[in-house]
Amino acid sequence: MNAPALHPDTERRGAEDAPAVSFVSLGCPKALVDSERIITRLRAEGYALTRTHAGADVVVVNTCGFLDSAKAESLAAIGDALKENGRVIVTGCLGAEPETIRAAHPSVLAVTGPQQYEQVVAAIHDVAPPKHDPFLDLVPAQGIKLTPRHYAYLKISEGCNNRCTFCIIPKLRGDLVSRPAADVLREAERLVAAGVKELLVISQDTSAYGVDIKYAESRWRDRDVRAKFYDLAAALGELGAWVRLHYVYPYPHVDEVVPLMAEGKVLPYLDIPFQHGSPTVLKRMRRPAAQEKTLARIARWRELCPDLTIRSTFIVGFPGETEEEFGELLAFLEEAQLDRVGCFQYEAVRGAAANEIAEAVPEEIKSERYARFMELQQRISAKKLRRKVGRREKVIIDRVENGQAIGRTRGDAPEIDGAVHLSSRRPVKVGEIVTALIDRADAYDLHGQVVGF
Ligand code: SF4
Repeated sequence: MNAPALHPDTERRGAEDAPAVSFVSLGCPKALVDSERIITRLRAEGYALTRTHAGADVVVVNTCGFLDSAKAESLAAIGDALKENGRVIVTGCLGAEPETIRAAHPSVLAVTGPQQYEQVVAAIHDVAPPKHDPFLDLVPAQGIKLTPRHYAYLKISEGCNNRCTFCIIPKLRGDLVSRPAADVLREAERLVAAGVKELLVISQDTSAYGVDIKYAESRWRDRDVRAKFYDLAAALGELGAWVRLHYVYPYPHVDEVVPLMAEGKVLPYLDIPFQHGSPTVLKRMRRPAAQEKTLARIARWRELCPDLTIRSTFIVGFPGETEEEFGELLAFLEEAQLDRVGCFQYEAVRGAAANEIAEAVPEEIKSERYARFMELQQRISAKKLRRKVGRREKVIIDRVENGQAIGRTRGDAPEIDGAVHLSSRRPVKVGEIVTALIDRADAYDLHGQVVGF
């Protein structure tokens, strides 16, 4: 992800002598939440934020180190910051490999790893000490958000206990560390009180939430809430906001949450990175829940909640993937009829166990399989979208441009899914949830008109 536009709250506000930081946030929503925490802390200490590197006292680059392409993007962002400013602090996933950063850019001032909030803030203090100002110290109770005002990511845990062979996140971020349920719920309450209409629950493995703290109870409002996937989802569902669950694995206990979706307590949406459909490839990937009868589970969820949208991601060209195994993946796709799907060609991330497991698939076969995969899935996704034509859907408005409103249904997450383009007789506002009549679908998006407010 590129540097997100800063929320108006984070812009420099006439604090002429306050030290100023320019912040670049790269990577996934989990890294974005880390950026939000660091910026919240900096604003609480009176720092100003600038939109350009040139006028800043220091530049912080929060990096991504997941794929080699992401590492290259991070190194390029550091290079740009050095050129435009010269005083650069690096943090985030690539910070777990300080030697890589220092080899490319020896003049960076400090390198800290993911979630090392204290260390990165300490490094900023060294370069540009804070100036105490009681007015600038004030930050909104919900913290500083880099997302638009109407939705926010809610990170419920750090790290991961799984050891998928293509992934180095556990090496970078460590084992699962869950936040107490009350802590998550209080943050969610603050966000909703500040006007957030949609909470996007994220982690590395959302369905594993609380395993590390033995589902410990904590006090929220007048009761104890367990740090358990179902309990947290149910409690979040009481807050009156849309609740969207990301990075869920098809473990049996996920079944319990589907009735909450059918009842309208949480959005009928599951983001499940299946990664493959062949049992032998899943085994080589060492995927959690690979042994579960996934297709039967999906069918059961749809019986319980016919409106359920399932989004997923897959990898083609995993080491050793045979034509037969790829055929099993296509058959899985055909049967699963997933609504939204992303696909990646396997990239040999340095340090990932998968690179040693079997022969790499040649690049031309990877691209040919990718094309076949996408062709099949586009047909499925388009068919599923067409089913929405003629229906009334709740739509949250993300943007209003030239009199047209652009939003998302309950089945579309920001950034990764499609959009709904709406005409309306009366002006609609960003963040408003309207009822729309869908009158047309194209390959990815829906079109319609606002019929209710
Ligand atoms: S579940 Fe697998 S892919 Fe996801 S973070 Fe954990 S090890 Fe990586």
